Amino acid sequence: MAGVLGSLIFWLIISVHVTFLVLAQDGDPFVHYDFRKANLELDGMASTDNGPLHLTNNTETSTGHAFHTTPMKFTGSSFSFSTEFVFAIFPLQISPPYGHGMAFVISRTKDLRYNYTANSGLGLFNDKNNNKTENHILAIELDTNKNDEAEDRSNNHVGIDINSKVSIEATDARYFDDTDKQNKTLVLASRESILIWIDYDGIHKLLNVTLAPVPTPKPVSPLFSSSIKPSVPLLSRYINLSDVFNETMFVGFSGSTGSIKSDQYILGWSFKNGAGKAESLDISQISDPPPSPPPPSSPPPPSPPPSGSSSSLPWILGATILAVAFLVILGGVLYHYKKKKYAEVLEEWEKEYNPQRYSFRSLYKATKGFRENHLLGAGGFGKVYKGILPSGTQIAVKRVYHDAEQGMKQYVAEIASMGRLRHKNLVQLLGYCRRKGELLLVYEYMPNGSLDDYLFNRNKLKDLTWSQRLNIIKGVASALLYLHEDWEQVVLHRDIKASNILLDADLNGKLGDFGLARFHDRGANLEATRVVGTIGYMAPELTAMGVTTTWTDVYAFGAFILEVVCGRRPVDPDAPREQVILVKWVASCGRRDALTDTVDSKLRDYEAGEAKVLLKLGMLCSQSNPENRPSMRQILQYLEGSVSVPGISFDSAGLGIPNISHETVTQQTAISSSANFSFEDVTILFDGR
Ligand code: ATP
Ligand code: MG
Repeated sequence: MAGVLGSLIFWLIISVHVTFLVLAQDGDPFVHYDFRKANLELDGMASTDNGPLHLTNNTETSTGHAFHTTPMKFTGSSFSFSTEFVFAIFPLQISPPYGHGMAFVISRTKDLRYNYTANSGLGLFNDKNNNKTENHILAIELDTNKNDEAEDRSNNHVGIDINSKVSIEATDARYFDDTDKQNKTLVLASRESILIWIDYDGIHKLLNVTLAPVPTPKPVSPLFSSSIKPSVPLLSRYINLSDVFNETMFVGFSGSTGSIKSDQYILGWSFKNGAGKAESLDISQISDPPPSPPPPSSPPPPSPPPSGSSSSLPWILGATILAVAFLVILGGVLYHYKKKKYAEVLEEWEKEYNPQRYSFRSLYKATKGFRENHLLGAGGFGKVYKGILPSGTQIAVKRVYHDAEQGMKQYVAEIASMGRLRHKNLVQLLGYCRRKGELLLVYEYMPNGSLDDYLFNRNKLKDLTWSQRLNIIKGVASALLYLHEDWEQVVLHRDIKASNILLDADLNGKLGDFGLARFHDRGANLEATRVVGTIGYMAPELTAMGVTTTWTDVYAFGAFILEVVCGRRPVDPDAPREQVILVKWVASCGRRDALTDTVDSKLRDYEAGEAKVLLKLGMLCSQSNPENRPSMRQILQYLEGSVSVPGISFDSAGLGIPNISHETVTQQTAISSSANFSFEDVTILFDGR
């Protein structure tokens, strides 16, 4: 065995050397029987390891390309070319269609790796480039798959393609049998070697494509009695290739597989650029393709005559053993890689939440592997990605980092409950997925992103009108009323702020990001052991004692009203000193009866009366004593105008002014290593989740 392996390696080295030594000159005609010696650039499935050009193999949904490395010159009137090649297609299934087919290609570029979608076939065209003159592609397709998108006529046809997967001319594969003097069907994927001649006469602009099974000579017309008989082409078409070809073009082959696959081989190839015919292939020099596995449970189809001598048996045996060993190892590596890549945590108790659970694999695929260009944004706990499920549903996936297994059961139960919340101003939580050290929350996708982007991102030409802002505030208020009072349990959102308000296609506001939300039975003692929220939106009793109640949500809602009306964050370190803390600034303006000084300067037309009501309401929610704050039901009544906002004192003493300075932020940053602090807008979570 060692001897066989040794000689195999030696043989491979020699082949590589030979390949590099016998390089064709630029634009020279060439003839190849052993493609290891050909000057080819291969990609994808394509290989020349055994002599023939093996374009596609058993790999699912993939491509193979092989182009002559040196470009061909097509200048002036010399667009003529002539080529002849022998191909054999070995289907890997017993009934048609037999794989996606292959094509002879003349192309502007030899890098066509990306020109592929699973259903386009041939490895040439995708949704983006199809039918674009910039492709500069002429292809003669030998198509074994009827693809409706390409308007294919059958799964055994030959076509001429110019820059598009829809052929300009196509017909079922046939040849003229000179003996019987009639056309006969030719099965492209018959495992038989088939000859094809493609000739373009640049003067008369005529492209001819002719086929015949090996060893039949090129079919000639019986109508001519002279010794020079014109051939009987299968396809004959006048085309001006000067519109398609650049001055330099690459010649080669392209093939592809989908869920159906085939082994496609080129066994000999002759090409000539310019006038005249390509050198005829010497059929005796055409090797047979290496034996490929018969299709499953089929009577063995007619196989090509046995190739080589018995001395090649050790090579084949050695190569097969090597290939099998390689495949086994590769399979094992791939299995472990995939297992690790898609690994998730799924425990027995989670089974009842199955309807809400997404597999990591499905989320990975939906977000194209959590690619950067799918990133919607990042918050204190992780990143949010856009995804598309196979059903076409658009989703936003928030990857939350968590290490604590403690409390996980309750947390998952709460996520499942959140999935049952239904309100037109709530971003729907669709489900979740758990991995080690990570939790993924799946939300409905909101096409207009988050409100903070509109309010604070000065670079964006996004401005919300007064009535849109009012509508957003009302929408969020009604969602909060639903959570606090109208659902079966009291739901505390605990992180109300502009970045957690998302905008639908019509710029309606929806309260999202239930990552911090908590449930309580009605009437239960609403004690919290954790301090969560975002600086500037956290009520004083929350920061002091860690107590979360509906009142702490109302406090945050007040800060939210102020930021929407004033167009700035509750704490803005860049503002003039007296304006850094928004509540304080609004209060000082209120005392001077100049509340509207605080209204966002970007707002052109706003209702001063409505603005004052909103600012007062914001201040009412910001009272330091929780009991002085209105409930969400009252807030909604104020917003609808059915009840007037009570008069309030703008005396700072009664207000829950965030006790914030640069120093305190620095201190708090030191306390919470789990939080990702920025002074402007940060969610804090003191004891992990
Ligand atoms: P925090 O971690 O405190 O919630 P944040 O709200 O700024 O901070 P994320 O919740 O992680 O951060 O959201 C980041 C960004 O992702 C948001 O600002 C928003 O632009 C985008 N985003 C979040 N959820 C969705 C969604 N359902 N649809 C569309 N975009 C979303
Ligand atoms: Mg958020």
